[in-house]
Amino acid sequence: MDAKELLMSSLVIEGHRDVYEQIYRKSVGEESPIRDAVAPRLIRDGINMTVYAISGDSYSHSQNTGRYLETALEQIDQFLEEAPRSEGMIQMVKTRGDLPNKVEPGSVKFLLHFEGCMPLRGSIHNLRNFYRLGLRSLQPVWNFRNELGDGVWENRTGGGLTNFGVEVIKEANRLGMVVDLSHMNREGFFQTLDVATAPLLVSHANACGMLDNPRNLADDQIKAIANQGGLVGILRVRGLGGQSRDQRRLPADGGALGAPVAEIRVSVAEGVEESLGGGVEIDGGAGLGNVVVDHHAGNQLQLAVLSLR
Ligand SMILES: [Zn+2]
Repeated sequence: MDAKELLMSSLVIEGHRDVYEQIYRKSVGEESPIRDAVAPRLIRDGINMTVYAISGDSYSHSQNTGRYLETALEQIDQFLEEAPRSEGMIQMVKTRGDLPNKVEPGSVKFLLHFEGCMPLRGSIHNLRNFYRLGLRSLQPVWNFRNELGDGVWENRTGGGLTNFGVEVIKEANRLGMVVDLSHMNREGFFQTLDVATAPLLVSHANACGMLDNPRNLADDQIKAIANQGGLVGILRVRGLGGQSRDQRRLPADGGALGAPVAEIRVSVAEGVEESLGGGVEIDGGAGLGNVVVDHHAGNQLQLAVLSLR
């Protein structure tokens, strides 16, 4: 079996995809960018499900306006308008029953995610309303400080979760949403472990044992996630210990997909492999996230359902 056949016959879950392509295409007048561009390419590339960061804390998430709540609502509305007009191509994951258990040609499932909770504007009511709109996964923070806590760029101050951050994590777990600690600083990371009532995800980070970078995880963090029943989705991206841009293409034999998992396992020691999802950037574009293939898909699915009902 060649790499393409392996890819297309495997259940492939993309652990993180950015919304920027949707925003850009919409801004230049495309009516249905998810239906006409994003989803068809995911299907072409053998992705069966994506965790889609429909909004978040970067200025770009707010369409360069600083209006985080309003633009998050616009971007979700765009998705909810397009999905029903895609003739089944775009499907939404809202419950465990919506998760893929086999390759379904011609369709791709989206699990909506926030990469940082600025769109909540400090309101727990907004969290519940976004849940009602289909949001099922969130990162409390992105790189900087928000109403919930501190991102990795705030590691100088040593702050962690705010009271609102704790409230959101508890409520997200109660509702059945995945809590993702990518981009969170070390203090907030361990504080979240203390308050979470469901297994946690770090959808996109590597090991400090590979590259000591604030976006990466120290060994004790990886072990803590593994012990808690969660999962770390590791990725290949320049600057985080992955391959360089030139090396990011799918390997001809597919064999290198497992390499980072082995590398991190060695870095951390035995016992955490089942809590790691191997990744590779497929299209070199807006989809920065990791992709989980083969037996690790089982873990990622388990993770995606950790909190879903
Ligand atoms: Zn990120």
